[in-house]
Amino acid sequence: MNQPELPGHVAVVGAGLAGVSACEQLRELGYDGRLTLFGAEPHLPYDRPPLSKDLLLGKQTTADVALRPADWYAARDIDLRLSTPVTAIRPDEGRIELTYGRTEPVDAVLLATGGRPRPLPVPGGDHRAVTVLRSLDDAVALRDRLGPGVRVGVIGAGLIGAEVAASATVLGCVATLIDPAPLPLERVVGTEIADLLHSQHRINGVRVLVGAVASVEDLGGPVRLHLAGSDEFVDCDVVVVGVGIVSDDSLAATAGLAVDRGVLVDAAQRTSHPRIFAAGDAARPTGPDGPLPNVEHWESALHEGKAAAAAIIGAPAPTRPVSRFWSDRYGWHLEVVGEFRGEVVLRGELGGESFAAFALVDGRCVGAVAVNRPVEMKAARRLIERGLPVHAGRLADESVDLRSLVIGRANTVDRTRAGGPR
Ligand SMILES: Cc1cc2nc3c(=O)[nH]c(=O)nc-3n(C[C@H](O)[C@H](O)[C@H](O)COP(=O)(O)OP(=O)(O)OC[C@H]3O[C@@H](n4cnc5c(N)ncnc54)[C@H](O)[C@@H]3O)c2cc1C
Repeated sequence: MNQPELPGHVAVVGAGLAGVSACEQLRELGYDGRLTLFGAEPHLPYDRPPLSKDLLLGKQTTADVALRPADWYAARDIDLRLSTPVTAIRPDEGRIELTYGRTEPVDAVLLATGGRPRPLPVPGGDHRAVTVLRSLDDAVALRDRLGPGVRVGVIGAGLIGAEVAASATVLGCVATLIDPAPLPLERVVGTEIADLLHSQHRINGVRVLVGAVASVEDLGGPVRLHLAGSDEFVDCDVVVVGVGIVSDDSLAATAGLAVDRGVLVDAAQRTSHPRIFAAGDAARPTGPDGPLPNVEHWESALHEGKAAAAAIIGAPAPTRPVSRFWSDRYGWHLEVVGEFRGEVVLRGELGGESFAAFALVDGRCVGAVAVNRPVEMKAARRLIERGLPVHAGRLADESVDLRSLVIGRANTVDRTRAGGPR
């Protein structure tokens, strides 16, 4: 490829959050070259979090979940090509391939191809009653199958599985949630909070089973899920599999770029080829010791799209925000920021309508988990970003406005009256 100072044509492959975020940032940074956003799906780029929540519940329509209105793209001179999958990239020739052998010249490519749901690798796992939830089409099809009395088996009690079980229950379905892990999310939020979250399923009428599904038996429409190593079975009209995703690194792999369960990228979203970048669920970060765990959350895709845009045109990299994700179930808005390790300080009553738990290491907040406490979570994020010392007692004290800790006032009081932060 030519190495112009600014690429003349940037192709963004994948019209999801990371791709749209990159296009927006390229224009905001003043890039005025040709910009094409290729989307394999026929829909306007849309947001995925509502698919397992408000869209499934019928509170949002397909139009509501669009990331941007249709005229937003034209207004920014972004050539949005829907139903146009990129079938190959040829980085050294400066071309991408589309269907029917068509090719287009490009100077830089951002791979924002997301991920594909892992299939259920058991006999009968491809039965028509068994579905996944990744795309808008998946969500609409699932919504049409849910209703009072419908028996829904949810395999995998991670974030999406938990949300599907909760939404199905609200819709009057008879839900069974199956996972080999007794406490999903334990590694991320600790035992106590994981237990509390998981117990909400039972409290709300979901049957919770610990185990692995070994096979899916056809009952002539409905299916019977058999659990490994037990006589237990579950009869279902619909089965939703939520056992994680596989990052879509196929274009990069075929082009000979470095991949390892995701397109390997550095901190600036650069791949092993100087004109190819990757962001979002498709990308896997690397550190000094090799590949790091994949991050498959909304805020990460948003940030990585922006970071890739900056890298493509040689602009300074934006600061990486503290990691954050959220999940909604049974009226609980769960938020997790940073890393939950070290000393745990509770604010509010665990299991009450709302609470927050902060993780402190050496007197500084490194992570937090909260249910229905957005103000606290914003403050926790600032505390982590700024590395400010905090006093555990102040964090726990409901009468202390946490925003004051962020600007240091209450901590100053701590230092003089309570001996200062640990
Ligand atoms: C149901 C659901 C609920 C979620 N809820 C939450 C939540 O509550 N909180 C949270 O933090 N995160 C949540 N997430 C995760 C979050 O939505 C994702 O991390 C985010 O959408 C990733 O964005 P992305 O742009 O990397 O990938 P995607 O959104 O997957 O977009 C990639 C796009 O690329 C397209 N594509 C693939 N290959 C090609 C090709 N060759 N040519 C052209 N286009 C191609 C795909 O069709 C797809 O539209 C949820 C995800 C799902 C599925």
